[in-house]
Amino acid sequence: MTAERLDGKRVAAEIRQEVAADVAEFVASGGPTPCLAAVLVGEDPASQVYVRNKARACEKAGIDGRTHRLSADVGQTELLRLIAELNADPSVHGILVQLPLPDSSYDERAILDAVDPLKDVDAFSPINVGLLMQGRPRFLPCTPHGIVQLLGRYQLSVAGKRVCVVGRSDIVGKPMAMMLAQRTGTCGPEIANATVTLAHSRTADLGDVCRQADCLIAAVGRPEMITGDMIKPGAVVIDVGINRVGDKLVGDVAYDQACEVASAITPVPGGVGPLTIAMLLHNTLIAAKLQRS
Ligand code: NDP
Repeated sequence: MTAERLDGKRVAAEIRQEVAADVAEFVASGGPTPCLAAVLVGEDPASQVYVRNKARACEKAGIDGRTHRLSADVGQTELLRLIAELNADPSVHGILVQLPLPDSSYDERAILDAVDPLKDVDAFSPINVGLLMQGRPRFLPCTPHGIVQLLGRYQLSVAGKRVCVVGRSDIVGKPMAMMLAQRTGTCGPEIANATVTLAHSRTADLGDVCRQADCLIAAVGRPEMITGDMIKPGAVVIDVGINRVGDKLVGDVAYDQACEVASAITPVPGGVGPLTIAMLLHNTLIAAKLQRS
């Protein structure tokens, strides 16, 4: 079997066009230009690239993308002061604090909690996480929402099927599991209603657990740890991992092996990555609409 390659880049471009059209319509109806404020603390090269890409994507969608750059030693108090200012600024609709913060002198939880839940486009605030748990989300976390959109647009139903999510981070694994276990989602009941297993570093017999999955989602951060023998023949494989190995980016899944077994798979790069930014733009527009009403 040679797996179908799920083209996240193409789907992300489609979503970005849709968001741009919605933004234009919103502004034409008298709404404010949606604005996303990114806060970047320190000089981490990967974070600088992410923030630059986000700003460019905003511009293309007709969203005002502002970047606030602070030096690594600015400190917790000053960072909280900036977040309070952005919370109070009516021209700012979405706020994102680029992670990781430079060092442990920053209390990451307190900083993320300080973002106004109505401007929390990363969906990290306890209120937005709680709303998702209850099946009435306001903002959906960008990476898992991108995966739902990808599955939906390729019509890869998970309803009634076994999904295994490997990795239980607050950003990817946990919300992913929750979204696919709901009664319905943004792509309807077919991209929900799954029987979900959430695996992690303490899962016994990970290979066995993965092999039972009709849809396997790897969000671990370990290069190529999901090997071909861990995949059920015909399964759909979604690889969230982005790992730098030498000068190459590789996923959490051994791609060539997986292609022999799976029915469909996302590549790295060009799979899940581009969808994350597309969904951030989508959330910024939702934030602008929420704050208008
Ligand atoms: P975290 O480091 O926060 O979480 C990793 C998870 O993997 C943890 O739950 C951990 O388990 C689990 N894990 C670690 N080792 C093993 C193992 N040997 N077997 C089973 N589970 C294991 O990572 P993130 O969720 O933030 O990111 C995961 C990957 O996805 C990274 O490569 C990251 O770069 C990428 N990523 C990609 C995005 C995109 O846009 N494409 C967006 C966000 C992340 P435990 O909880 O027990 O420690």
